[in-house]
Amino acid sequence: MKSEQAKIPQATAKRLPLYYRFLENLQASGKQRVSSTELSEAVKVDSATIRRDFSYFGALGKKGYGYNVSYLLSFFRETLNQDELTKVILVGVGNLGTAFLHYNFSKNNNTQIVMAFDVVEEKIGQEMGDVTIHHFDTLKEKLPDDVTVAILTVPANAAQNIADKLVEAGIQGILNFTPARLSVPDYVRVHHIDLSVELQSLVYFLKHYPV
Ligand code: ATP
Repeated sequence: MKSEQAKIPQATAKRLPLYYRFLENLQASGKQRVSSTELSEAVKVDSATIRRDFSYFGALGKKGYGYNVSYLLSFFRETLNQDELTKVILVGVGNLGTAFLHYNFSKNNNTQIVMAFDVVEEKIGQEMGDVTIHHFDTLKEKLPDDVTVAILTVPANAAQNIADKLVEAGIQGILNFTPARLSVPDYVRVHHIDLSVELQSLVYFLKHYPV
């Protein structure tokens, strides 16, 4: 994300890809404007939050007109670097890793897993989707200069050791799908996605805060 937009709150930044995808579909269907209520229904974020999110980057919708779709899209494209291809690597080609390699963000032209790593000999050299699996010991020599993000789908007990080596090799962002909490230097960002915790939290909210 660009530095001049660094003041956008993290919660807002996380919603941007959601807005972006919906707006892209709107534009493809020829729609030129959208109201916060329409957006709200589509992306399931309340319209006050949407208005606040948009106000951070100066997009103030006009009453009775709504937001201009192409203006919003050009802003998002720049903010989310959607004009650039973000290349990432994946470490751990187990069940989840395999699913990611087959999926490989096929509906999103801007993100691509370009290389995978594992340690199990039978997997090394295999192609999955269009991605080749290399031995993790060869990370430093294989990691392309323009890749700074890694998806981590290894067993929890291997995660910290692998994260250390990823950082050593130049990785600056880790999408951590393991339950392990990782310690990394300040300049490295870890986003943690624990699917079972997310599910439990959803069930909790359904039970205690029914909509
Ligand atoms: P599987 O059925 O292939 O074991 P899984 O998702 O249940 O799948 P996990 O035990 O979570 O398997 O491991 C995920 C993947 O991480 C496996 O392919 C495993 O070989 C790989 N892995 C384990 N240790 C490392 C490591 N140190 N470096 C890289 N990959 C590793």
